[in-house]
Amino acid sequence: MKDPRTKARAIRSPRGARTMEIDWADGHTGILPHRVLRGFCPCAGCQGHSGAIKFLPPSDLQLELEEIDPVGNYALCLKWFDGHASGLYSYAYLRSLCHCDLCRPEGEADEGQEIPRL
Ligand SMILES: [Zn+2]
Ligand SMILES: [Zn+2]
Repeated sequence: MKDPRTKARAIRSPRGARTMEIDWADGHTGILPHRVLRGFCPCAGCQGHSGAIKFLPPSDLQLELEEIDPVGNYALCLKWFDGHASGLYSYAYLRSLCHCDLCRPEGEADEGQEIPRL
């Protein structure tokens, strides 16, 4: 059975908002600022093929999400307005990026921060 911590029940990213929300099956509401999602884009173009994922501060133009496409039942493909659409975000990875007050009381990720690939 799939871990309820990495099973998404609902995903919201209202147009114009700069935050995506995920309702996880364990009852947690994930808060994912676009800046964090884009800055931690896991694609090879942004990050290379191996090693930890580094936060790359995005420009304002890179913060508008155009589409969220589920890939199988394990990941989301995020498509951005500037055409970038190669990032596959596994649910485990998205959960690790959660920026709600409980998961990240110290606030938003910053330049140079590294997180593991999931
Ligand atoms: Zn990327
Ligand atoms: Zn959280």
